[in-house]
Amino acid sequence: TKPNKWLTAQELHAHLNTSFSMSFLEELVSQTQDEHGISVNDLHLTESQPLDQGFAIFSKLHKIFRTEESIYLLTRSVIKEFAEDNVKYLELRSTPKEIPETGLTRDVYMQTMVRAVHDCEKEGLDITVRLLVSIDRRHGVEIAKIAVDLAERWMKSTKGLVLGIDFSGDPKVGDATDFIPVFLDAAERGLKLALHLEEIPLHEETKNVLRACCGHCTIRIGHGTYLHRYEPNEGHEEIEDLVVKWKIPVEACVTSNLLSKTVDRPGTHHFWYWRSKQHPVILCTDGKGVFGCLLSDEYSKVAKEFSLGREYLVNYALSTFDTIFECDEVKQRLKDNLKQFSEKEQ
Ligand code: IMP
Repeated sequence: TKPNKWLTAQELHAHLNTSFSMSFLEELVSQTQDEHGISVNDLHLTESQPLDQGFAIFSKLHKIFRTEESIYLLTRSVIKEFAEDNVKYLELRSTPKEIPETGLTRDVYMQTMVRAVHDCEKEGLDITVRLLVSIDRRHGVEIAKIAVDLAERWMKSTKGLVLGIDFSGDPKVGDATDFIPVFLDAAERGLKLALHLEEIPLHEETKNVLRACCGHCTIRIGHGTYLHRYEPNEGHEEIEDLVVKWKIPVEACVTSNLLSKTVDRPGTHHFWYWRSKQHPVILCTDGKGVFGCLLSDEYSKVAKEFSLGREYLVNYALSTFDTIFECDEVKQRLKDNLKQFSEKEQ
């Protein structure tokens, strides 16, 4: 049962390959088991593990979702499942893959995701879906440039179904500073930026990115777990100052952070830190398959932890619509729908 039957919401931080449902995965794996020898039980976290464990799972998933058909089916089922959880607006992100053995190219990958979104629209699902092209920091700057070209091309050809880029991947690899010219170039071309920053303490790269991008790019920060956790007198206060000054929304993935051990318990999650500063912070799932959570679970979790009532949650959800990458008209439509929905279900 869904605790937030009276609440519709939006999901802004969901990685395609980690957002499967167990039933979908079981069916797909049972059909393809011989090819990769991976058991579904190896593909989700049931207890807290260090962040590296999550990345080991992501690599296994990439052995399963290797074909055009599997990407199509995955995209459709993820969208359907979010719609069933009352999500009305979804920004879904994924790293386009080049897999010569299966004929997958980055372009085919994008085309497949777009086709799945259009088919969900035709089916009449009550959810608006937009796409972000992910840049995996492990793959370096040259591939990142290719991702930006791809995103721009698909943004134009789909008339805005693709809205921007995501910067993600193992934060222990590389330095986000090297990608600054790519971020600025993407923004110049009209793409919005969702950047994983401070999932682990990386104050120098975060400072560099924010100094360069604030004022030039539309940004949201993924995780941002350590944005406000710094030693005094080390010069890192500037990070928080920039985030506040530019009102950069923070995508808060509570269950993911707890299971990845970057936050020790719900009560210390930075959701509440930013919320009590009245700074935009959005509850998100990150990977509802790997982390075994629905968006409605995330709302329930914080409602319970911080004793938040219905009225508070509706007002909170209304405020988060301002942080989507879509235009004001879409923001207003989503807000009006949520108001109507919550009044009707009262
Ligand atoms: P995909 O882009 O659809 O293949 O989704 C999986 C990918 O998302 C992973 O390989 C990572 O690059 C990225 N990702 C998923 N979760 C996280 C996270 O918590 N931190 C950084 N990157 C992540």
